Amino acid sequence: MENDGFIVIEGIHKNPNNIETLDEKTKKVHGPFKRKQAEVLAKSLIQKNVDNFYHRAWVIKEGLEINNICEECRKEEESVKQNLIMHGYKICYSCNLAKTIFPI
Ligand SMILES: [Zn+2]
Repeated sequence: MENDGFIVIEGIHKNPNNIETLDEKTKKVHGPFKRKQAEVLAKSLIQKNVDNFYHRAWVIKEGLEINNICEECRKEEESVKQNLIMHGYKICYSCNLAKTIFPI
């Protein structure tokens, strides 16, 4: 089940490295998909818009708010958003480390 329920968000960003700068008017949400499908779609969207520097597509677990609250320990930490964008999970650095060492 862990690989289900991923969405792809695409749109124009003020800063293409920061999902929070996405322009709501250009925002399109696709899915939910299985994680692999979502990644394939995000890649194709990025390729299709390769000429537009400000266009980005992100793969995100469905139903997650974009903030820095860790889903495991509920602490707020800067690394949570980075992990969300990179791995699709809202998890802080220390919980992620614990999960890597002791996989659930
Ligand atoms: Zn945590």
